[in-house]
Amino acid sequence: MSTTADVIVVGAGHNGLTCAAYLAEARLEVLVLEAREFVGGNTATEELTLPGWRHDSCSSAHVVIQSNPLIARDELLLLERYGLGYIVSDPAVVFPSTGEESLVFHPDLVRTHERVARYSLADADALISMIDEWESGLRVTHAYVQSGLTPPDGEWSERYEALRQRSARDVIEETFTHPVVRRAVTWLAFATIQSPLRAGTGVLPASIVAGRLRFGWTTPKGGSQSLPDALVAHLRDHGGSVLVDAPVVRYVREGDRCVGVRTADGREFRARRAVVAGSHLRELADQVADPTEDLLHAREIWRPGLSVFAVHFALREHPTYLIDGEWRPAVGAGLGSPEGLFAQVTAAERGEVDLTSPWLLMVNSTVVDPDRAPGAVFKFLTVAPERFEGRPWRDADADAYASRLVEFARPHLRGLEESNILCRVTESPTSLAERNPANLGGSCHGGQFEESGQVFPGWRSPRTGIEGLYLTGSTSHPGGSVSGRPGRNAARAVLDDLGLGADTVMARP
Ligand SMILES: Cc1cc2nc3c(=O)[nH]c(=O)nc-3n(C[C@H](O)[C@H](O)[C@H](O)COP(=O)(O)OP(=O)(O)OC[C@H]3O[C@@H](n4cnc5c(N)ncnc54)[C@H](O)[C@@H]3O)c2cc1C
Repeated sequence: MSTTADVIVVGAGHNGLTCAAYLAEARLEVLVLEAREFVGGNTATEELTLPGWRHDSCSSAHVVIQSNPLIARDELLLLERYGLGYIVSDPAVVFPSTGEESLVFHPDLVRTHERVARYSLADADALISMIDEWESGLRVTHAYVQSGLTPPDGEWSERYEALRQRSARDVIEETFTHPVVRRAVTWLAFATIQSPLRAGTGVLPASIVAGRLRFGWTTPKGGSQSLPDALVAHLRDHGGSVLVDAPVVRYVREGDRCVGVRTADGREFRARRAVVAGSHLRELADQVADPTEDLLHAREIWRPGLSVFAVHFALREHPTYLIDGEWRPAVGAGLGSPEGLFAQVTAAERGEVDLTSPWLLMVNSTVVDPDRAPGAVFKFLTVAPERFEGRPWRDADADAYASRLVEFARPHLRGLEESNILCRVTESPTSLAERNPANLGGSCHGGQFEESGQVFPGWRSPRTGIEGLYLTGSTSHPGGSVSGRPGRNAARAVLDDLGLGADTVMARP
């Protein structure tokens, strides 16, 4: 394999690969260097519990990326030609209750209105108004913002900014009144692991609920891994390559320009035209000579934000929830009260545990994608402090935490009895950080930047101020999630700066 390419991309997470694939589509020769022995980062699918049981080790739901033209317009033909397939689940998500009917959201506004109206007609109508407003103008503004482009001036941009500046909690409390409905919308608004108590999260209730109503619990066929695999297939088809076991430790500068990278084993790779760093932005200032003020500032103000905790189960049978008087399986289900979530988040920010009524996501991808296992691959996801009682999490701490989550969940569903659990594996913030160098602090979403009381999830620009060096990945705008936005945004910046015109391979926004 050549050690020289037009562009070197560091990190084969879905963002690095998205960036690489767009650049290859524009006829640049691209080489991707990945630290681990396989591609995918937090979109990997692995046999975590038993042989033959394929679990998504991190992300399962690819909802956010459905609005990205990468998928929405199939700009790189990943769906048509490179084997990527998505399943829209129905129900979109279920909110079980102890001994009572679950509230169900469908990938359909009218049917969801009918479900919510069983609790409160006023709230069901408020849901319609919220989604109408989103679809009428806020959604397009959001697409510009996510793409790092300035939205057109006008009423919708002003309304978007006014909404964004508020907290998700304030918006939900003002819009909905019934506790069951508030619980569901608050749970959904937290799906990207941003504290709903903080100003700057006001668009999340509308953006996330609208996504679930359009795309359900969007499940990648074959597992989360099918996204990076499709991107690699596209890249190779366009002359690009990926090298694994190649952790980059140094970005090489000559004069004002970044001209390549060096890996931990001393190999040097040269880039004729650009280097794109999908490694963690917190570390970049230490890996490049003469870092700019901007890179130093990014290093200084980065914080892990909320860390996550996952439990993977191999189950004999599908767990079921009470829906319309019958016990039925579902891909996605949510537990926990708003007050429980606020207490959990506040405690986690102080380094403490509060599991009174935690936000708990329960995923069973095998309901719609049965080939992944001979039974059910089931997952819990929740929040946990970065460190347990002030020290790194040990296996015994993680196991005890997982047992408390099981005890909390059990009364809400059938199928979590010991007799149905074949195997259980926990992932604490400490083990998540060890699994992927991009999960610093156990944060699953690239963490966040905190400046003058403001918090923003991804660094503002893909440009670093060093000629030829760009940023992608979840530490760059608009932050974490399987969105592909940081990847596409970086590709746009590279192509525009090289005078190749990003509009040859991607639409605006
Ligand atoms: C448990 C968990 C559950 C999640 N669930 C969801 C979900 O359901 N839906 C959702 O949208 N999001 C979810 N997320 C978040 C989402 O998975 C991530 O935000 C997203 O995958 C990040 O993608 P990325 O390409 O930016 O980075 P990553 O996937 O982290 O990839 C970065 C890659 O770069 C490599 N790398 C880093 N540094 C170097 C270096 N110096 N040299 C070479 N290679 C390097 C890493 O090894 C890695 O492969 C979840 C995350 C976690 C942890």
